[in-house]
Amino acid sequence: MQNTAYLGLGSNMGHKRQNLEYAIEAIDSIEGINVTKCSSFYDTEPWGKTDQEYFLNAVIEIITHLPPQELLKKLQEIEIKMGRQRLEKWGPRNIDIDILLYGDEVLDGQELKVPHPHMRHRLFVLIPLREINSAIKFPDDGMDIEEVLIRAEAREETKITKT
Ligand code: AMP
Repeated sequence: MQNTAYLGLGSNMGHKRQNLEYAIEAIDSIEGINVTKCSSFYDTEPWGKTDQEYFLNAVIEIITHLPPQELLKKLQEIEIKMGRQRLEKWGPRNIDIDILLYGDEVLDGQELKVPHPHMRHRLFVLIPLREINSAIKFPDDGMDIEEVLIRAEAREETKITKT
């Protein structure tokens, strides 16, 4: 069965644009995954740990028959292959790939939580997500993306600029 999922990508080390483009190609080349939409790339102030380089962020839509855990494993393999270093929480990274939404699934496992637990607060996720699908509804509480974005904008002051 094919499912539509949304992935968030970020990079704040090295050639950020190249890192995102490379990761998107790598995701598309995985057997069982097709990238169907890609947002613009956004320059974003660092979130969580603020004394570091700006991030470049994007959201992609994929269609996949891989179950969520297997998808996560494949994405983590790409992160490892691209030499991602986990030096500190929310610290610099050449690539970060998160599963934001996976069909209508609501998962609360140790390894995988969907919808991604921080996405409702992150403008750098919500803005590109709305750009590629403004009809998204959150499967856990039924809120639509526009409503979630308005709430996040009222709280968050992170600067985010379309490139
Ligand atoms: P991070 O260092 O921010 O990329 O977090 C990676 C860790 O978050 C991994 O150990 C994953 O198992 C866990 N995780 C939980 N939910 C998700 C999700 N929706 N997408 C990606 N990683 C997740």
